[in-house]
Amino acid sequence: MNSLGLYFHIPFCLRKCSYCSFYSLAGRTDIHQRYAEAISRQLLLYAKKYQNKLRPLTSIFFGGGTPTLLPPQTLSRLLVECLEQFAVANQAEISIEVNPATVAGNSLAILRQAGFNRLSIGVQSLHDKELRQLGRPHTVADAVETVQLARRAGFENINLDLMYGLPGQKLQSWQRTLEDALELEPTHLSLYELTIEEGTPFAFLEEQGQLVLPTEDTVLLMLEETQQALQQADFQRYEISNYAQPGYQCQHNINYWQNGEYLGLGAGAVAFFNKTRCTVIADAEQYCERLEHEEELWQDREKLGQEAAFRETVIMGLRMTAGISLTGITERFGINTEAYYGETLHRLIRQGMLHIVQDRLRLTAQGFLFANAVMAELV
Ligand code: SF4
Repeated sequence: MNSLGLYFHIPFCLRKCSYCSFYSLAGRTDIHQRYAEAISRQLLLYAKKYQNKLRPLTSIFFGGGTPTLLPPQTLSRLLVECLEQFAVANQAEISIEVNPATVAGNSLAILRQAGFNRLSIGVQSLHDKELRQLGRPHTVADAVETVQLARRAGFENINLDLMYGLPGQKLQSWQRTLEDALELEPTHLSLYELTIEEGTPFAFLEEQGQLVLPTEDTVLLMLEETQQALQQADFQRYEISNYAQPGYQCQHNINYWQNGEYLGLGAGAVAFFNKTRCTVIADAEQYCERLEHEEELWQDREKLGQEAAFRETVIMGLRMTAGISLTGITERFGINTEAYYGETLHRLIRQGMLHIVQDRLRLTAQGFLFANAVMAELV
């Protein structure tokens, strides 16, 4: 496990989407600059703490929220500081999440020049009606323009985030979004089924009976259609929700799914290092204050025992189509997966949810459709 990721969390958004339960702040431009300074402070603290003790970073990821609400010069300065303070592997993947309608003029060119080499664009749908319903602050035209701007800025590696299973969405509407997305020639697609999260406007509408979601059968058809369309377009599914053209799998996320080590900067960011998982306080103002006064940043700190780390690694590894190496897991944790899960594992294999192929335990095609239920048995 030689990967090491670094995540920057920028929790600002233009406005809150109707389905979103993430920690993010809409309309708080007043603290953008202060927050950028705080994150730069945390970066320097990390650099001082780990100086010469870290292997080179293999991926850097600016996520949110909407990182591109910060000026491109600020984001570039943060990246440059990071490149100055840490050893970074050759060919490291350096991604930034972008939401349409938040990048204008030459901002993407500035980011490309600073060293970002992968963009992840929050498109979600290519129908204006669906975007309005989701509460997204952009239009289809904004999304298409963002992809064009990205290409002109020199980004070759582009992910599009899309959502299916939307209220009132028909199979044909999803097919159309998928076709239109492929015409934009991305190298990677992240496709998420809408889930209704507690406390969101969508949860309220659902309670009132005002949200009509597609049936389970329609969602399964959407998934089947997705598989076919993407296979024809030379995309390979490599994780439950992620598809890439050969060579364009997201290295930063693969490191998460392999339960590798990563550091996290920003309010609410998580780090996993030296078998310890730490979560930074998920409040932007307190985050700034604590850094300004050199106070403790962690809201949560947990040392993972061997068995807990083993189970997490199995669950997360099964999210990927490559599954997990049984020998590799035994070498890493000293635990034999088949002996540990015993009859539960064998039953899931008999039921056609899992299979073992040349030392790798994987979800079957059927298992991918019921992945949550399978994981719940192994957790
Ligand atoms: S842009 Fe993303 S993080 Fe921000 S409110 Fe919408 S879904 Fe949530």
